[in-house]
Amino acid sequence: MHIGILGGTFNPIHLGHLVIAEEARDAFSLEKVLFIPAKIPPHKDTGPVISSEHRLRMVRLAIDGNPSFEVSDIELKREGPSYSVDTLRQLHRFFGEGVELSFILGWDSFEEIHTWKDYKELFCLANFIVTNRYEHRKEGIGGTLPVEIRDAFWYDKTKDLFIHRSNHFVAYLDTPLIDISSTEIRKRVREGRTIRYLVPRKVAEYIEAHGLYGGKR
Ligand code: ATP
Repeated sequence: MHIGILGGTFNPIHLGHLVIAEEARDAFSLEKVLFIPAKIPPHKDTGPVISSEHRLRMVRLAIDGNPSFEVSDIELKREGPSYSVDTLRQLHRFFGEGVELSFILGWDSFEEIHTWKDYKELFCLANFIVTNRYEHRKEGIGGTLPVEIRDAFWYDKTKDLFIHRSNHFVAYLDTPLIDISSTEIRKRVREGRTIRYLVPRKVAEYIEAHGLYGGKR
């Protein structure tokens, strides 16, 4: 079984997240994609603090009706900060032998991968599917890896994949560029501007109903 993992703060979830999850599912024939909301680290500039429960509920609303998408609260339940390496280890224990995990993330996150806890071990636990987030034009991301990790991979030209010593791969996936961020959504809500068509309708309704992000109820 091949499972995609999309970690994020999802504060709130938006169409950019859903598009990369769906594109990765389609391109790599993933059986499912697990959305895993992280605990918000105290240093993250998120404006008004909203509870994990709200973020989790908004993910549930956003993926409702898509049988390939699931949400997991393992990072929210775990004590201490959310480290992806711990999550991947935990998922391997949970799913057992025969499961292949692929971590889906934007290039903006991937280029900082060397700052993640135990980053070298990450590639022993999962593949990485890197999408071209809007800030980074495609020409900028294809064909190379962040310098800090380059030595551990070789490039398979026929498959256009970077293969790790462990046999896991890093793939660059060409996805539609969706210029949406949670930061922008929070800003728009605060300013009383529309977020229609930027987040799923039920998420917009939830934000409004609960007066999240400083918006009017
Ligand atoms: P914030 O603006 O609060 O920093 P965000 O919009 O970057 O949030 P996260 O929840 O931090 O959202 O992102 C989770 C993952 O989704 C990251 O790997 C990020 O690169 C990716 N991602 C988020 N938005 C997009 C987008 N519009 N297109 C492609 N990838 C995205």
